[in-house]
Amino acid sequence: MTTAHADPMPRAHALLKQIWGYDAFRGVQGDIVRTVTDGGNALVLMPTGGGKSLCYQLPSLLRPGVGVVVSPLIALMKDQVDTLRQLGVRAAFLNSSLSLPEVRDVEAALAAGELDLLYVAPERLLLPRTLELLERVDVGLFAIDEAHCVSQWGHDFRPEYQGLRVLPERFPAIPRVALTATADDRTRADILNVLELGGARQFVSSFDRPNIQYRVANKEGPKTQLLDFIRAEHAGDAGIVYCLSRRSVEETAQWLVAQGVDAVPYHAGLSQRERSTAQERFLNEEGLIVCATVAFGMGIDKPNVRFVAHLDLPKSMEGYYQETGRAGRDGLPSTAWMVYGLADVVNVRRMLASSDAPEEVKRVEAGKLDALLTYCEAATCRRQLLLAYFGEDYAGPCGNCDVCVNPPRVRDMTREAQMALSAAIRSGNRFGAAHLTDILLGRETEKVVAMHHNALPTFGVGAAHDEKTWRGVLRQLVSLGYLAAGEHHGLMATGKARALLKGETTLALREDSLIPRVSKRERER
Ligand code: ADP
Ligand code: ZN
Repeated sequence: MTTAHADPMPRAHALLKQIWGYDAFRGVQGDIVRTVTDGGNALVLMPTGGGKSLCYQLPSLLRPGVGVVVSPLIALMKDQVDTLRQLGVRAAFLNSSLSLPEVRDVEAALAAGELDLLYVAPERLLLPRTLELLERVDVGLFAIDEAHCVSQWGHDFRPEYQGLRVLPERFPAIPRVALTATADDRTRADILNVLELGGARQFVSSFDRPNIQYRVANKEGPKTQLLDFIRAEHAGDAGIVYCLSRRSVEETAQWLVAQGVDAVPYHAGLSQRERSTAQERFLNEEGLIVCATVAFGMGIDKPNVRFVAHLDLPKSMEGYYQETGRAGRDGLPSTAWMVYGLADVVNVRRMLASSDAPEEVKRVEAGKLDALLTYCEAATCRRQLLLAYFGEDYAGPCGNCDVCVNPPRVRDMTREAQMALSAAIRSGNRFGAAHLTDILLGRETEKVVAMHHNALPTFGVGAAHDEKTWRGVLRQLVSLGYLAAGEHHGLMATGKARALLKGETTLALREDSLIPRVSKRERER
């Protein structure tokens, strides 16, 4: 562009103060605002509570035309729009909750150029009618919130998000900013692909939540363990207790109440009214505990949630991070507490196996579960593992997780790790954990023989240990980034593995390892 661009930042700072009352940008917010206001595309990876909204709301005000925000969270649009209106921003939303006359009103305001921000559900955006309308009006930018929904690998795939391909196709000149709090490499690649953000600037914030203490314990008597935990550390505090089933949500809430703890249930089986009452009470009262399925929490912005407890395994590290992330948004000390046991693992595996998702998706989900299990079994700093999962190199140890505070007894498994790595490398970096285990144990399975892996120097070198140990070693190696899962779940040694092979790094595993025994059938898959 040849026209002289005035520096948008003085005005950005003025609006930041005038409209939101903030004195400064947080972290990379300022850089993102500048990039998008100047018409650039951007990918924003920022943890929940990091301040993503401002990254598109402010540029929408600074750029001519309306900022169109795609969001899957219909339930929250109204709140967001109400908040913006209170701040004096001309905002509206379009989704299935509106009546026809209401839709017409919003469309008229849009056509008349009377909106600064328009929130729209993806399926509504993709209607030919909406797209045509947007082509006729002045659009300042597209913000794609919860952008991980484009990816099948994410925990929250929404097919209509893939339809957002039309944005780069039909509106190539309008800047796009995609935002998400959860994106592993694969998800990130999908976002870049669908939204054609290849040339976009990427803004990746740290996912560390230093004020959250991460803890995982072996499940013995979950309800009693929970009560002990609450009484000892969080009496009178607001908290969320996540359970897998509606029934356990109900039971846990009832039980807590019977013990004199203020708690309410929340799950999709309750009436709309019961749910909003629970939600409102949670937001407005001081020390209420919500026992909930994962249906609870999306977009809940209560700053002083002091603990998040998991009585059942979350679905993935992404889910765990998002759910625990609802604790301590005010920056004060908070606890992410979880108990898990063998039965849970079996349960989740069974659910996974019996789902009718495509094989490929199931395999990805199994991989995600493995990452979570490795986290549960960690003998090293949990924060380090959690952040490593999101691609972040955290120096650690953090001093604020159960492993750091109360180090478990560990055994030096460096030699075993070297054996496993060399089994992977010598067999060509393309076999999965089961086959590598067979090699290490010296099992002459059909596949081992067919591949001549019984002739490898590593064949049988691990016979002193059992299968459980080898699975544990391999899983740890994956979670710590020494082995990476490639195509078809083959494991390959990474650059990092060299240090371990050369003996420059050591590896310790915990003795009380909770690595679950898998059933024979599962083992053979
Ligand atoms: P996200 O969408 O990333 O979860 P939000 O945009 O909802 O996060 O912001 C989280 C919280 O941080 C909100 O309460 C918001 O008001 C606050 N916030 C965002 N940016 C700033 C800032 N620059 N200064 C102070 N508070 C901020
Ligand atoms: Zn730690």
